Amino acid sequence: MNIAQQLFCRAFQFGFKVAIPVLPYRNPDILNAVDEIPELLHKKGITSVLLVTDQSIRSLGLTKHLEEILEQEDIDLTVYDKVEANPTVAQVEEARRLYIENDAQALIGFGGGSSMDCAKAVGVLIARPDKNLEQLGGILKVWKKTPLMIAVPTTAGTGSETTVAAVIVDPETKHKYAVMDFPLIPDYAVLDPEVTRSLPPSITAGTGMDALTHAVEAYIGNSTTKQTRRESLRAVRLIFHNLERAYRNGDDMKARRNMLRAAYLAGCAFTVSYVGYVHAVAHTLGGRYNVPHGQTCATVLPYVLEGYGAKIYPQLKALSIAAGLSEMDEDEALAARKFIQAVKDLNAKLKIPDKVNGIKREEIPLLAKLAAKEANPVYPVPVLMDERELKRFFYDISEVDS
Ligand SMILES: [Zn+2]
Repeated sequence: MNIAQQLFCRAFQFGFKVAIPVLPYRNPDILNAVDEIPELLHKKGITSVLLVTDQSIRSLGLTKHLEEILEQEDIDLTVYDKVEANPTVAQVEEARRLYIENDAQALIGFGGGSSMDCAKAVGVLIARPDKNLEQLGGILKVWKKTPLMIAVPTTAGTGSETTVAAVIVDPETKHKYAVMDFPLIPDYAVLDPEVTRSLPPSITAGTGMDALTHAVEAYIGNSTTKQTRRESLRAVRLIFHNLERAYRNGDDMKARRNMLRAAYLAGCAFTVSYVGYVHAVAHTLGGRYNVPHGQTCATVLPYVLEGYGAKIYPQLKALSIAAGLSEMDEDEALAARKFIQAVKDLNAKLKIPDKVNGIKREEIPLLAKLAAKEANPVYPVPVLMDERELKRFFYDISEVDS
């Protein structure tokens, strides 16, 4: 990247970095079990809630216990269970109608990122009945308090229970956009491992590696704070100690609980400190080839860490120590290499491939352009790269034609 572009990116990122202390970031309060929800609602004087989830979560019986205890506690419950991957404007509108018709006073988003995002978006429309979602898309356009929002993640990875964003799709225009504002940060995150018990190993692996990528990208970037560095290091420690256990034995509730905590911490860290080129590359591939987000991040992560080079050795050494791989007095380059190798080894143990299937090599220049557009100048990456420099990651991860 040329010097003028670099200066522009760094100035842009510096503006956001200095604003961090004055922006109303907050971490959601944690509940340790779904069982704690009725008491919380009683305390807040809430007698009617809307539960937003998807059909597969509900048919697996994951929401059953919550539905039962809310009924026992005389809290009116309305369920919207038609969320699909990438919630649409129509789904959000329908859920909003249910919220209003049933005089709901709070929202529970129960599921993966999509259900939580849909619930957040319902909250946005309740707060801003004067606008539609398209008008509220982008940064800082909501500006009003949303109803009490409780997020119950059923995967340990997306971090949507902590973030300012809800991603929405308009199926008519195929336009995918995010509504991003501070009122969207959920008030409570319920980190209950029971709701993640039935996750298949491949999803446990992919979402867990997504959380690792959030923690690593937040940590190695230039917009960290003391708090986000601490959160990232704790997340990395938890993931290296628990992800493989949760993958091999889905009934290991201690490992599942620790993974939920790790995903939450990583989510809090990247909400403030952003992600980097791993996510830009993974989002681009996800948009073009519909590959799973977490697994793609896992595949791309070691390539990008190697691509950043010696600039991030100090950060990688700290991550390596957090992961239990290195000692304080170890050589930085050695510790950095150990950390990158450990990510590759973890991928192999989780049966995550080191290539992404189906990338059309003739599309790589376009893919690199899209990734550069997403990342620059917003992501405070440790080493800036333009589309020409990003191309190599796409070549590196694509299967060589046989
Ligand atoms: Zn991610």
